[in-house]
Amino acid sequence: MGYEHIIDKDTCKGCGLCVAVCPKKVLELSEEVNTMGYFPAHQARPEDCIFCTTCCIMCPDVAITINKTVEDATEPELQ
Ligand code: SF4
Ligand code: SF4
Repeated sequence: MGYEHIIDKDTCKGCGLCVAVCPKKVLELSEEVNTMGYFPAHQARPEDCIFCTTCCIMCPDVAITINKTVEDATEPELQ
Protein backbone atom coordinates (compact mmCIF):
# COMPACT_ATOMS: atom_id res chain seq x y z
CA MET A 1 0.00 0.00 0.00
CA GLY A 2 1.35 3.40 -0.98
CA TYR A 3 0.08 6.93 -1.28
CA GLU A 4 -0.11 9.43 -4.10
CA HIS A 5 -0.08 13.18 -3.61
CA ILE A 6 -1.90 15.23 -6.24
CA ILE A 7 -2.06 19.02 -6.55
CA ASP A 8 -4.65 20.30 -9.01
CA LYS A 9 -2.56 23.16 -10.38
CA ASP A 10 -5.49 24.85 -12.10
CA THR A 11 -7.57 24.92 -8.87
CA CYS A 12 -4.68 26.23 -6.78
CA LYS A 13 -4.66 30.00 -6.29
CA GLY A 14 -1.07 30.14 -5.09
CA CYS A 15 -1.82 31.35 -1.55
CA GLY A 16 1.24 29.50 -0.21
CA LEU A 17 -0.53 28.17 2.90
CA CYS A 18 0.42 24.57 2.13
CA VAL A 19 4.03 25.60 1.52
CA ALA A 20 4.10 27.26 4.96
CA VAL A 21 2.52 24.38 6.91
CA CYS A 22 4.38 21.43 5.37
CA PRO A 23 6.63 20.07 8.16
CA LYS A 24 9.01 18.53 5.62
CA LYS A 25 9.36 21.54 3.27
CA VAL A 26 8.16 19.43 0.35
CA LEU A 27 6.16 22.15 -1.37
CA GLU A 28 7.09 25.30 -3.24
CA LEU A 29 5.24 27.71 -5.50
CA SER A 30 5.86 27.21 -9.22
CA GLU A 31 7.54 29.78 -11.41
CA GLU A 32 4.95 29.24 -14.15
CA VAL A 33 1.39 30.56 -13.96
CA ASN A 34 -1.66 28.31 -14.20
CA THR A 35 -4.79 28.93 -16.29
CA MET A 36 -6.10 31.39 -13.67
CA GLY A 37 -2.90 33.43 -13.63
CA TYR A 38 -1.66 32.19 -10.23
CA PHE A 39 1.63 30.53 -9.37
CA PRO A 40 0.47 27.09 -8.14
CA ALA A 41 2.12 24.94 -5.49
CA HIS A 42 4.05 21.88 -6.57
CA GLN A 43 6.06 19.17 -4.89
CA ALA A 44 9.65 20.35 -5.09
CA ARG A 45 10.90 17.48 -2.93
CA PRO A 46 8.33 14.66 -3.26
CA GLU A 47 10.75 12.13 -1.80
CA ASP A 48 10.53 13.93 1.57
CA CYS A 49 6.71 13.74 1.81
CA ILE A 50 5.49 11.76 4.83
CA PHE A 51 1.81 11.92 3.70
CA CYS A 52 0.77 13.63 6.91
CA THR A 53 -2.17 15.28 5.00
CA THR A 54 -1.62 18.67 6.72
CA CYS A 55 -1.42 20.43 3.35
CA CYS A 56 -4.73 18.88 2.17
CA ILE A 57 -6.48 19.92 5.37
CA MET A 58 -5.15 23.48 5.22
CA CYS A 59 -5.79 24.21 1.53
CA PRO A 60 -8.77 26.61 1.35
CA ASP A 61 -9.49 25.54 -2.23
CA VAL A 62 -9.21 21.77 -1.66
CA ALA A 63 -6.66 21.60 -4.46
CA ILE A 64 -4.59 18.85 -2.80
CA THR A 65 -5.62 15.20 -2.64
CA ILE A 66 -3.82 12.27 -1.09
CA ASN A 67 -5.02 8.86 -2.23
CA LYS A 68 -4.15 5.44 -0.95
CA THR A 69 -2.91 3.31 -3.79
CA VAL A 70 -3.06 -0.48 -3.79
CA GLU A 71 0.20 -1.77 -5.22
CA ASP A 72 -0.76 -5.45 -5.14
CA ALA A 73 -3.78 -5.73 -7.47
CA THR A 74 -4.19 -9.44 -6.60
CA GLU A 75 -5.09 -8.60 -2.99
CA PRO A 76 -8.51 -10.23 -2.32
CA GLU A 77 -11.50 -7.91 -2.01
CA LEU A 78 -13.79 -8.15 1.00
CA GLN A 79 -16.74 -10.41 0.15
S1 SF4 B 1 1.36 15.48 3.08
FE1 SF4 B 1 2.52 16.48 4.75
S2 SF4 B 1 4.69 16.15 4.23
FE2 SF4 B 1 3.50 15.75 2.36
S3 SF4 B 1 3.49 17.70 1.24
FE3 SF4 B 1 1.63 17.65 2.51
S4 SF4 B 1 2.16 18.69 4.45
FE4 SF4 B 1 4.07 18.13 3.37
S1 SF4 C 1 -2.95 25.92 0.06
FE1 SF4 C 1 -4.08 25.21 -1.79
S2 SF4 C 1 -4.53 27.10 -2.94
FE2 SF4 C 1 -2.93 27.60 -1.44
S3 SF4 C 1 -0.97 27.30 -2.57
FE3 SF4 C 1 -1.44 25.37 -1.51
S4 SF4 C 1 -2.55 24.11 -3.03
FE4 SF4 C 1 -2.61 26.24 -3.73
